[in-house]
Amino acid sequence: MPSVEKNKGKSVVIIGSGAAGLMTAFELLKHNTDVTVLESKQRPGGRLHTLHGHSFSQPVELGAEFIHGDLPLTLSLLDKAGISYHPVNDTMGRLEKGIFKRENNFTAYWSMLMKQMASIQYDMLLAVFLNTYFGEDKYAELRSFIKNFAGGFDLADISTASTKALYREWSKEMGTQYRVDGGYKKLIDFLETECRNNGCIIHFSCCAKKISWHKNEVNILTMCSRMFKADKIVLAVPISILQADTNSRDYIAFSPAVPQHIQAAKNIGFGTVIKIILEFYENFWKAKTKNAGMIFMQNEVVPTWWTQLPVENNILTGWIGNEKAVALQNETDEVILAKAVQSLSHSFDMAEEKIHKNLKAFKIANWSKEPDIYGGYSFNMVESAGAKHILHHPVEDTIFFSGEALFEGSPGGTVEAALSSGKKTAEAVLKTL
Ligand SMILES: Cc1cc2nc3c(=O)[nH]c(=O)nc-3n(C[C@H](O)[C@H](O)[C@H](O)COP(=O)(O)OP(=O)(O)OC[C@H]3O[C@@H](n4cnc5c(N)ncnc54)[C@H](O)[C@@H]3O)c2cc1C
Repeated sequence: MPSVEKNKGKSVVIIGSGAAGLMTAFELLKHNTDVTVLESKQRPGGRLHTLHGHSFSQPVELGAEFIHGDLPLTLSLLDKAGISYHPVNDTMGRLEKGIFKRENNFTAYWSMLMKQMASIQYDMLLAVFLNTYFGEDKYAELRSFIKNFAGGFDLADISTASTKALYREWSKEMGTQYRVDGGYKKLIDFLETECRNNGCIIHFSCCAKKISWHKNEVNILTMCSRMFKADKIVLAVPISILQADTNSRDYIAFSPAVPQHIQAAKNIGFGTVIKIILEFYENFWKAKTKNAGMIFMQNEVVPTWWTQLPVENNILTGWIGNEKAVALQNETDEVILAKAVQSLSHSFDMAEEKIHKNLKAFKIANWSKEPDIYGGYSFNMVESAGAKHILHHPVEDTIFFSGEALFEGSPGGTVEAALSSGKKTAEAVLKTL
């Protein structure tokens, strides 16, 4: 019997309309399954959030912006949707007091570090690894660099991050990076339209609060007291939501409880980030930074910046990862903007007032405070491999989990990770229908 007939009448509710949730729906709908998506926000996409307007002269990305390499699922979906993308200028350099230096090899210690990371037999916390193998005073700079790199790029906290997982991530050549023309929203629009055209119902402003279940039957109660019923449920929410305390606004109750899976979720790290998007009337960095795509400002509150090159415009994006973001997460947008301007002022050796006067538009995306998400993306702790293994096993073939944090390959914490997880979840659900 063809699979189209097989699943007729079988229903699946997916919680969350990010890349993972929509991808799960997209794949399930190919097999004639009844799919309903519940999303607590008023828009789909989750951490894919392309902002239009807001005084910017072009759409800007508040969440994901890059395709980190030739990633098969992301690129094949973009091709299928007819959405173009372009390679990014990712040449980098360091700017200090107005002087720019190209910097390709992160530090003189990088190859030594990678060699040592490759050689460890058992996994350990990155902080322990650094103290064990690079604890001497002469390595102080290396330790500080690695802490900032892990926190800035991977949003990983070295006191809980897995050394082996970071080694796997860092030892892979990323290759060409790309940006989606018009923004990632185009990919979300494509998935949403495809899902709706195939019969999927998507409810926005619909926050799942309680899941009552027994094998092959699920009842979902939402915050606005609506009830949904299905044979199966997929939780495609950020891992931070599964980690929420019972008294938190975001806590999702399971009845009966699913303690093994919730404990597993707590064994996956989730970092945070503040992204600062600034548009200026005049481009003041082009001449100084020699057309670099990425600009590092060591020891500044906002240490990482990038331009939109090869697209020439007047937009600069600042990035504050993990520890530094946590320190600022409760500040107002104005305070965070002031810190960003200070960082630019020091590094470009330019008066703050001049930078403020040149500012045309700004947007602070403080992801720690973003409802229904509360962070940036996941990182691997020492316990995460086992945790992912548990989360990949559905509860009684009825409750499934999905999302970037469940992805086991590389690059982790990405859109590709979310799409791959969604596809894998759909395959797992289909096996049980
Ligand atoms: C600032 C930032 C920059 C990034 N940059 C990049 C990048 O350049 N490249 C890259 O590949 N990746 C990047 N990422 C990571 C990437 O965005 C994520 O890995 C990916 O989008 C996660 O998708 P997801 O579907 O797993 O989760 P999400 O996108 O978080 O989707 C989960 C959805 O669940 C909803 N939800 C939560 N609770 C409930 C509930 N109770 N009921 C109903 N709905 C609920 C949420 O509202 C959300 O829409 C970035 C992330 C951030 C935050």
